[in-house]
Amino acid sequence: MAKKQYSELKVLLKAQREMLLDEVRAKIAASGEDPGFVNQSKITDDEGLADAAAEMEVAMVIRESQELQEVEAALARIDDGSYGDCSDCGEEIGAARLKANPAARRCLSCQEKYERAQGQLFKAGL
Ligand SMILES: [Zn+2]
Repeated sequence: MAKKQYSELKVLLKAQREMLLDEVRAKIAASGEDPGFVNQSKITDDEGLADAAAEMEVAMVIRESQELQEVEAALARIDDGSYGDCSDCGEEIGAARLKANPAARRCLSCQEKYERAQGQLFKAGL
């Protein structure tokens, strides 16, 4: 893939990062938690947020902060030159998939395998 396309994806990723950051900040502000940056382990370890409503809110914040980490990681990969290669099999992810999901770190078949594995972990209660 040509460098120019990466710079377009970089713009997309940066816009996505801003949007996610805004959402995470807004949710944290709404939940009355410390607006200092999202530390995933801090959120999951915080037993003070045990009621169901708060858990839903926290789950959303965690999901968004994970997306945010994916976006940050993709931007870092563009800078270090490893962007566009599947992190599992090393093959090219493919322009169409990157365009649809610029933060993708795996090719479609590795992503499917990964999600199946995650789904199994989830069902096992982990
Ligand atoms: Zn792969």
